[in-house]
Amino acid sequence: MAYASTNPFNNEVLKRYDNTSDEEIETAIAQGHHLYQTWRNDDVSSRSRKLNDLADYFTEHIDDLARVMTLEMGKLIGEAKEEIALSAHIAHYYANNADDMLKPKPITTAIGSAEVIYRPTGVIMSVEPWNFPFYQIIRVFAPNYMAGNPVILKHASITPGSGLAFEQAVHAVGMPTGSFKNIFATHEQLEHILADKRITGLAFTGSEKVGAVIGGEAASNLKKSTLELGGNDPLIVLDDADLSELNKIIGDSRLANAGQVCVSSKRLIVTEANYATVLDMYKTAFAKIQKVGDPLDPKTQLAPLSSVKAKRHLVKQVNAALENGATLAFGTLDTDENTAHFMPIILTNVTEDNPAFKEEFFGPVGMVFEVADEHAAIDLANNSNYGLSGIVFAGDADHGAEVAAQLETGSVYVNYFNDTLPELPFGGVKNSGYGRELGDEGIKEFMNHELIVKRTKPIA
Ligand code: NAP
Repeated sequence: MAYASTNPFNNEVLKRYDNTSDEEIETAIAQGHHLYQTWRNDDVSSRSRKLNDLADYFTEHIDDLARVMTLEMGKLIGEAKEEIALSAHIAHYYANNADDMLKPKPITTAIGSAEVIYRPTGVIMSVEPWNFPFYQIIRVFAPNYMAGNPVILKHASITPGSGLAFEQAVHAVGMPTGSFKNIFATHEQLEHILADKRITGLAFTGSEKVGAVIGGEAASNLKKSTLELGGNDPLIVLDDADLSELNKIIGDSRLANAGQVCVSSKRLIVTEANYATVLDMYKTAFAKIQKVGDPLDPKTQLAPLSSVKAKRHLVKQVNAALENGATLAFGTLDTDENTAHFMPIILTNVTEDNPAFKEEFFGPVGMVFEVADEHAAIDLANNSNYGLSGIVFAGDADHGAEVAAQLETGSVYVNYFNDTLPELPFGGVKNSGYGRELGDEGIKEFMNHELIVKRTKPIA
């Protein structure tokens, strides 16, 4: 893929970028590896100040950084600013907490005294998608920087400006050379990078299809990987759910970031008792979207999709769903290929034999399912190839948590939307991938959990 920033609002190509040469990639790996050799002898806390500086840089440059993202992938400028603020929050969190998180873990053993210590392993290759151009990077970079693992980034070919802006921020705050390198690599170059013994892990976020390929490449080189892939998340509404609370999040749960969110609630599953009311509520929330247009205009309510290509794919999926018996319960399908805008629609009557039943729709398409009861809701939620996240709305939150525990997903939020916070581990099961980013689990993914055992008694 050629790297270029194209404004999805008007299809204007803003800038094209040359691919990084093999020599430059070699330099990036060598610098990262050299830094790792230094970092492995330093205290975790010695890296904290610069990461706090990076967070402050994000806050000080929030308008410029948000604009870079909006211009090249089309998200609303308000959402872009929230993403930069979240990235700053994540950077501060790891700067201030990693030292504690990486304290040795003592183990009681008959042999003597033992502990697991957490050691860096080397340079991590990060391959990221375009939908959250800054957040996706910091989610890998902040924990790994503190852990002592330098990061090389290959961003999506449609968000090269965001990768560069991140790298400039790292330079501006004076992080050591090799801490983070943005490269415009081809898929073939990436294959070579993963074969290099100085690269010790792959952090991939993207589609299921590419995850299977690139995860396979990492595995064939005996590299550990984390795969953060797609989702078809359920939002389950139980009989006793507080519908006025649900009403506060039901629109955003599907329409935030123009529906291009891995953990967006793509399947709304409602028990009989509330089905008609919740479907009406959903339609009302979707109908509030009146102003589409320039995502730089703060009054715009819904951004365009990331590209006309993305719209074409979504239109194809919706047409296939309708041909296979789904009902267009709200909205009109706009097939105009001159624009990346896609007005929200709602589908009902999606049966198990419909291809839409198991596909991820990456845009503002809601699917609503009526089920007899809670058990049927759980069965339907689990009848998916994916297992990323989910939401349960229940009058009794403890009971909601019991239902949550029966879902085959990486996380579930009870009576709340899928919020991302620095301390919460993020990841999925099934075809949504494996491994975790963020949280205690995330910071340790690419560390050596090294066991040290000290004999305290004479050898018998
Ligand atoms: P994608 O096509 O899989 O691309 C992701 C990254 O992989 C890009 O950098 C892309 O680069 C690269 N890539 C594509 N084909 C490759 C190949 N053959 N070899 C090596 N690298 C390759 O994903 P996307 O469509 O951009 O992103 C949307 C998907 O990401 C959705 O499924 C969404 O649910 C998922 N996602 C998951 C999470 C999560 O945390 N679980 C978060 C966000 C998004 P090029 O652009 O150069 O092809």
